[in-house]
Amino acid sequence: MIYKAGSYDVIVIGAGHAGCEAALAAARMGCKTLMVTMSMESIALMPCNPSIGGPGKAQVVREIDALGGEMGINVDKASVQMRIINTGKGPAVQALRAQADKDEYHKEMLKTLLDERNLDILVAEVEEIETSDSRVTGVITKTGAWFACKAVIITSGTYLKGRIIIGDLAFDGGPGNQFPSIKLSDSLQKLGLKMGRFKTGTPPRINKKSVDFSKMIEQPGDERSLRFSFVSPRMERPQLSCWLTHSTGITHQIVRDNLDRAPMFSGVIKGKGPRYCPSFEDKVVRFADKDSHQLFVEPEGRATDEMYIQGLNTSLPEDVQVQILKSVPGLENVRIMRTGYAIEYDYVVSSQLKLTLETIQVEGLFTAGQINGTSGYEEAAAQGLIAGINAALKVQEKEPLILKRSEAYIGVLIDDLVTKELDEPYRLLTSRAEYRLLLRQDNADLRLTETGYKIGLVNEERWHTYQEKLHILENERTTLKRTTFTPADKNIAEFLASKNSAVLRDRISLWEMLRRPELKIEDFVRLGLISDNDLDILEQLEIQTKYEGYISKQKEQVQRFEKMESRHIPDDINYDDVYGLSNEALQKLKQFRPHSIGQASRIAGVNLADINVLLIFFEKQRRK
Ligand SMILES: Cc1cc2nc3c(=O)[nH]c(=O)nc-3n(C[C@H](O)[C@H](O)[C@H](O)COP(=O)(O)OP(=O)(O)OC[C@H]3O[C@@H](n4cnc5c(N)ncnc54)[C@H](O)[C@@H]3O)c2cc1C
Repeated sequence: MIYKAGSYDVIVIGAGHAGCEAALAAARMGCKTLMVTMSMESIALMPCNPSIGGPGKAQVVREIDALGGEMGINVDKASVQMRIINTGKGPAVQALRAQADKDEYHKEMLKTLLDERNLDILVAEVEEIETSDSRVTGVITKTGAWFACKAVIITSGTYLKGRIIIGDLAFDGGPGNQFPSIKLSDSLQKLGLKMGRFKTGTPPRINKKSVDFSKMIEQPGDERSLRFSFVSPRMERPQLSCWLTHSTGITHQIVRDNLDRAPMFSGVIKGKGPRYCPSFEDKVVRFADKDSHQLFVEPEGRATDEMYIQGLNTSLPEDVQVQILKSVPGLENVRIMRTGYAIEYDYVVSSQLKLTLETIQVEGLFTAGQINGTSGYEEAAAQGLIAGINAALKVQEKEPLILKRSEAYIGVLIDDLVTKELDEPYRLLTSRAEYRLLLRQDNADLRLTETGYKIGLVNEERWHTYQEKLHILENERTTLKRTTFTPADKNIAEFLASKNSAVLRDRISLWEMLRRPELKIEDFVRLGLISDNDLDILEQLEIQTKYEGYISKQKEQVQRFEKMESRHIPDDINYDDVYGLSNEALQKLKQFRPHSIGQASRIAGVNLADINVLLIFFEKQRRK
């Protein structure tokens, strides 16, 4: 029996990493919001690696934070270790990585959601999306509740027709023994959405009391008090270590001896998995020349004995998993706590989405997260935030928010999703961002806080903190540029000698001096030449000085890119009217319906000749 249960501006289906950001964004922007989840336990659940950040992902977490999202603040409250990856490389690829306490992460996010004024949470399974004239009107749950609304955001992750596979055992299920979500996928297909099938996997969890850490290499956290959010307090607290071990020739032989029982190779698994996060058995086969792979043993939290083994995703039968574990140095006496498994699930083919993450077929229907064919908490959270923002802006009849590839990793992510045909789960990498020197983790607030403030998501307190930072940065930049020294300055001459840095030949500013790779901004602080500012300020000044030349070169490239990007293509264009397009380009342009000439040029099958045909067509239109 269907009954009217209430009405909302925005309904978010799912409370994973995408759902939490979407619901908080819509509620904080003033929309009456309902978040529906299959269970309270799945709120901000981390079904796989207990870490946030790393290369290509840390930048996204910082961007979410700068726009007024929650992931950065939440992981700062729940981290058990923080460290910077790639410190030996340039700032474009340096990346903060946090080891999170999974349980704390869930609890902190739940607290924030419950405190949010415009937000209700409901435990239920949504089975149907209601529409009228291709516009969303509401949702219906398994128990017959019908909720009316103006926008729906689906963030159902890996639950859509979820199927768990361990060896030759396969059963319907969601991650972590949750129920799968079956009927919603059918409802989306009825609405004309094309679905695909992907898979991902997770390693077994082991009991830390059964691990011999003396046979492993400790990976401690960074001594500095690091943070993801630009507004989190800097906290000193004890950090837990991760541990490095590796597989052996024996481990690989066990896998080879059991490939006939591996669902990846026996055909039981049909969904395509992420190339960048392969299963262990896949690694043994694909990299047969390697007789050892690194394995990281990572804590899942402060109040649990469970440890996660990064690099050992597997869906081999449980008895084989135990053999594999016992062949690894330090795990000879291991006790398993959870079996590794693979999960197959339905996803929405993302070329059916606009850059706002609204579906092309159904107005007011948005999708975000793993349902769009991505993999990763950070990628999911970023999409959830953008979908939440755009659902709210749609309800409020305001201009949507579209981030460009030159503005944010989030812009790169969404542009790739709507412009590429995915053949495996998509995860963000620094190599995907052509303007990565401008899209660094350290300057995300300088790039996006103003945007977050304009759309009403960045609150006054954060805006004030940001203005203060801009003020300090401006003052310190002036100090660096106006403070000069001559070869006669003895202290500076001694300092340069102590750093094996060239003697001064002429008057030079601190700014120019800081460009010298052997000199660090901390040196200037120690010498009292500039104030002992917060880590973020010092880091910003150092990067802006040392990379000034590269940064301005990249800015020139962006200007050229912007020209093509600003050539918008009308939403209602009829490509059959454009004479001279290749058949493939015609078919692809009709399928993807790009937003701009720049976006059209990134669609596979649309080549330069087709772009010229389009430009000539628009020129003729303009003259007419
Ligand atoms: C086994 C496994 C291994 C993984 N391995 C990796 C990895 O190695 N690397 C990596 O980067 N990422 C990995 N991930 C992916 C990572 O977990 C996801 O990217 C991330 O959790 C996706 O977030 P999300 O918000 O899109 O969905 P999820 O976090 O999956 O949340 C989905 C939410 O939707 C709700 N829901 C679903 N259907 C309905 C419905 N019909 N009605 C109401 N609520 C509904 C659920 O209750 C849940 O709250 C793995 C995930 C799993 C399950």
